[in-house]
Amino acid sequence: MKHTPRPSTPPVHYRIDASATHAHTYRVTLTIDEPSPTQVLSLPVWIAGSYMVREFGRHLSAMSATQGRAARDVQQLDKTTWQVHCSGSAALVLQYEVYAYDTSVRTAFLSADRGFFNNTSLCLRVHGRESGAHHLSLVGLPRGWDVATAMTCRKASGRGLHYEAADYDELVDHPFELGPFWRGRFKAQGVEHEFVVAGAWPGFDGQRLLRDSQRICEEHIRFWHGARGKPPFQKYVFMLHAVDDSYGGLEHRASTALIAARKDLPRVGEGGLGDGYLTLLGLISHEYFHTWNVKRLKPAELCRIDHTKENYTELLWFFEGFTSYFDDLALVRCGLIDGARYAKLLAKAATAVQSMPGRRVQSVAQASFDAWNKYYRQDENTPNSTISYYTKGSQVALCLDLTLRREGRGSLDAVMRHLWALGAERGSHVVATTGARGSRAGLRDPGNIGITEADIAQALKAVGGRSYAAELKAWVHGKGELPVAELLPTVGLAQSREAERLSAAWGLRLSEGPVTGCVVRQVLRGSAAEAAGLCAGDEILAVQGWRVRRLDDAAQWLAAQQPQERANKGSNQASRPRAAAPAAVALLVNRDQRILTLTLQPDPQATRVPTLQWMVDGAGTKPGPGSAAHAADAKGVAVSERRRAWWSASA
Ligand SMILES: [Zn+2]
Repeated sequence: MKHTPRPSTPPVHYRIDASATHAHTYRVTLTIDEPSPTQVLSLPVWIAGSYMVREFGRHLSAMSATQGRAARDVQQLDKTTWQVHCSGSAALVLQYEVYAYDTSVRTAFLSADRGFFNNTSLCLRVHGRESGAHHLSLVGLPRGWDVATAMTCRKASGRGLHYEAADYDELVDHPFELGPFWRGRFKAQGVEHEFVVAGAWPGFDGQRLLRDSQRICEEHIRFWHGARGKPPFQKYVFMLHAVDDSYGGLEHRASTALIAARKDLPRVGEGGLGDGYLTLLGLISHEYFHTWNVKRLKPAELCRIDHTKENYTELLWFFEGFTSYFDDLALVRCGLIDGARYAKLLAKAATAVQSMPGRRVQSVAQASFDAWNKYYRQDENTPNSTISYYTKGSQVALCLDLTLRREGRGSLDAVMRHLWALGAERGSHVVATTGARGSRAGLRDPGNIGITEADIAQALKAVGGRSYAAELKAWVHGKGELPVAELLPTVGLAQSREAERLSAAWGLRLSEGPVTGCVVRQVLRGSAAEAAGLCAGDEILAVQGWRVRRLDDAAQWLAAQQPQERANKGSNQASRPRAAAPAAVALLVNRDQRILTLTLQPDPQATRVPTLQWMVDGAGTKPGPGSAAHAADAKGVAVSERRRAWWSASA
């Protein structure tokens, strides 16, 4: 969609006052020159990238309106829409407050320590003026506070900072971070990138974060545009909020808002790359890849966002799943992790899919469509009724990539670039710019490239030299298992299964701790735990008469009851139930203040949660002469060569 600002239309202007930090309230003054006789205004109910109706309007209050010196009645039409009857062309001025005390990346926050906002929470949409310019001024910042945003700054004056966006959709795609945060910069392929971190511990290694982020960004830019290519933005901003314990991110056209655990940030003097920091780098990689895959390449249905209600698409398996595939792949490609570490990440995703009985209930296309009330509204039944379009979608990407590579007809990289090229082919426009100032001249931004599943199928056919309709039907619209195990050896990866944890073998998901004890969060469909009558919320107090605070401790005395297993018990702390009818187990359970005794019959045939270990064949050991690392397929391509091509940095 292209918005061509009508030159005669004056910009809509928002003045955002951030001084009421103790009230956690932004005060907004909205000025509309030449308003409609009946001016309608509304606040979005959702923010792009987070597929849930969040009713931002519930935090808006105290709205009043004036035109010249005359007060105007504000009539509320529904939970998120207002209208004002105007007289004459004098500017309509609205004032309102927005309560902001949500630390997530999706809404707004303001305290004496920090501020953050998305304009979907603060800026009313002025109906009829969406395609015109939108200006925003920020005033009342506490002393010593700084501002980070990717929105174009028009000017900074003593009385505030002034920003501009070409249209309403751009306005709401630039979050703002406010406060006394850490700030660093780097260039990727010659383009300015800024990284701000709020809330970090002293001793946090900002320089390392910049170096590692730069490697990720350069890999992604090369992936899409080649060694000398430029990304479709002039500047990119990472805004990371470090907190005690949280994880998430939201992608935007030239920035991302991230939230992560403080302990996952790199520390000065720390060697190695811990799992926590790896998770953070994966998040950075994920959100940055979205700059192409969902912010520009996007579901055709989402090219024109309806801010008033759910916007359905069946394609999140592609936009979230494929992004989840390429996020970790970029880490091995740019050398931040080695192959063995990458294989572990792949195994984790495979285990996550295998541990969801809901994969037999829902396809990833259905899961995408249902995101609004399933993925974003998870409860104790979630693993039984739904499948994650992130994890299974990333496994679909893996299967497609390995199939393309096995057949010697390109790769999923080429498929993604083929789709990107549709932008130019279809004459996709240059994204709306902010006027004639020329600040973005020369920027090659294709704007929206709306794609359908037919486009994805066509791109696979063009790259792969044959139809992939059967694969898409089975993997995207079907509920069967993906052929991951069959495809792994084609790149020299081997799969093994670890001994299950007791909770996994019984079909339980728990929250455990010395204080909370062992509480059931979810009972998997068809499991021994379900047959025993365990329910979400039950606290497992004892197993065979012994108190437990971690269920796996019970594995030690349960193993002792099964003499035939002793010989097999190696260093694994969890014993593995065997097919030879293990003995029934007595569980003492607290449910809603009552103490119950339940009998659980471990059933080797019941739903199990396998934990997969993927080994890079020959890694760290001497590969045998017949190992996959030395093998070659019918085309004479060495398997190790194929794996090297898969993991090589984009050129
Ligand atoms: Zn995502």
